[in-house]
Amino acid sequence: MSGSDRPDTPPDERHTLPFWEGLADGRLLIHRCESGCGRAFFPPGPVCPHCGSRKVDWAEVDPRGQLYSFTRQHVTPPGFDAPLVVGLTELAAGPRLLTPVAADYDDLAVGTPVEVVPAEPPGEVDRGELAEYPYVEAVPVQPE
Ligand SMILES: [Zn+2]
Repeated sequence: MSGSDRPDTPPDERHTLPFWEGLADGRLLIHRCESGCGRAFFPPGPVCPHCGSRKVDWAEVDPRGQLYSFTRQHVTPPGFDAPLVVGLTELAAGPRLLTPVAADYDDLAVGTPVEVVPAEPPGEVDRGELAEYPYVEAVPVQPE
């Protein structure tokens, strides 16, 4: 059974679209569980990964966080320029987002304060239907 054959999933539903629309407005939207545990999670999805609730909704969160981990890729996916610095940003709301990091690798450390912001794609990435929306990256910021 393919995903589009599942009776509880509309065939044209795109769970990530509000995320990209939010970025275009300069807002970071992620899914939050609206029953049970109440935790935020990423990537977006129709079911809370923490408690299994299907009652989830979008919530605007503080785009600031800190680098949980990072690396420099010398062999990148098609369309991405190399080398590419990528990192996991741990948001104050809890979830971690994997994005390119707009910084020199040697200037970063675990715990570096960063902000997740809209950005140009890091290369000629074929984004299909999302080409009209900004891409996303993490940029170092001064600690508060
Ligand atoms: Zn939950």
